[in-house]
Amino acid sequence: MAHVESVVIIGSGPAGLTAAIYAARANLRPLMFEGFSAGGLIPGGQLMFTTEVENYPGFPHGVMGPEMMKMFRDQAERFETRFITEDVTEVDLRARPFRIKSDGAEAHAHSVIIATGARANWLGLPNEQRLAKTGGGVSACAVCDGALPAFRNQDLVVVGGGDSAVEEASYLTKFAKRVFLVHRRDTLRASKIMQDRIFKLRDEGKVEIVWNSGVEDVLGDKTITGVLLKDTRTGATRTLDCKGMFLAIGHTPNTELFRGQVDLHENGYIRLHPQGPSQSYTNIAGVFACGDVADYHYRQAVTAAGTGCMAALDAERWLAAQGVH
Ligand code: NAP
Repeated sequence: MAHVESVVIIGSGPAGLTAAIYAARANLRPLMFEGFSAGGLIPGGQLMFTTEVENYPGFPHGVMGPEMMKMFRDQAERFETRFITEDVTEVDLRARPFRIKSDGAEAHAHSVIIATGARANWLGLPNEQRLAKTGGGVSACAVCDGALPAFRNQDLVVVGGGDSAVEEASYLTKFAKRVFLVHRRDTLRASKIMQDRIFKLRDEGKVEIVWNSGVEDVLGDKTITGVLLKDTRTGATRTLDCKGMFLAIGHTPNTELFRGQVDLHENGYIRLHPQGPSQSYTNIAGVFACGDVADYHYRQAVTAAGTGCMAALDAERWLAAQGVH
């Protein structure tokens, strides 16, 4: 019989790495599949595509997302978490020990912590995908791509009305000639503080908010030249010239691997099955979930880290109750 790990953690954002730190300190010797490129993400998760994180406690002057994730990983490694830098391609959670496979590895585990997070959404327009794939000025991550020379001193479009859209639009004002925030309604979903920020930038002439508008098409052959906008109330269309378009329209959980095995909400996020005070149980005994993959409400680095801690403590206690550890 192959070696059976006490706990395998899938995913390496704040949730997965916090689970690893706790599991490692409990002498569970966690094995982490930290991913490679699944869901368009890289090891470290969404924070690898962020610039400054201002709201993570303990960093009064802020910290860059990738730097913070390196600290998380270093801390997990210090307590002897083992890492496999590959995407998981298959899981079998129907029988114990559970089986987790990547292209180059296979692990068997008494318990699994799912921390695969979520990924950015796209509008799904053919020209959007074409230009995004060929580096034609369409991106779902302003903070990754916004500083590229092609976008400097240009008119840029950000689509969305939530905190991400406001954050990305604010960020782009550092490089762009002007930023157009295109939103399908007449009020922003973003939090009050973020709204204040964008309204200030609007008053300074750096941002223009295009209310009640959806992007119908992305124009341009090799690079984007503009977007076709449709008024969501009247149906009228018009062209807005721009040299870049950044999507900030929410996220999709990375749960494809688990569909049919782990209980999911209708929106695709993992459904948790609290057991008394324990909050990270899934429908499968021994399989726990934490972070954005099970959270469509808070979706913060600090809440992800908190739930990662909870999942590791729950796994540890569950393993002890099984007499495994
Ligand atoms: P979100 O809050 O779900 O907002 C998504 C936005 O995209 C909404 O304004 C939505 O419009 C719009 N949208 C969705 N689908 C669309 C479509 N097909 N076409 C056009 N517009 C579409 O997502 P988010 O902004 O990524 O934020 C996610 C979570 O992360 C939130 O909890 C947020 O507070 C948090 N966050 C926080 C910060 C920060 O505090 N610094 C930064 C980023 C994110 P409607 O409003 O009409 O639904």
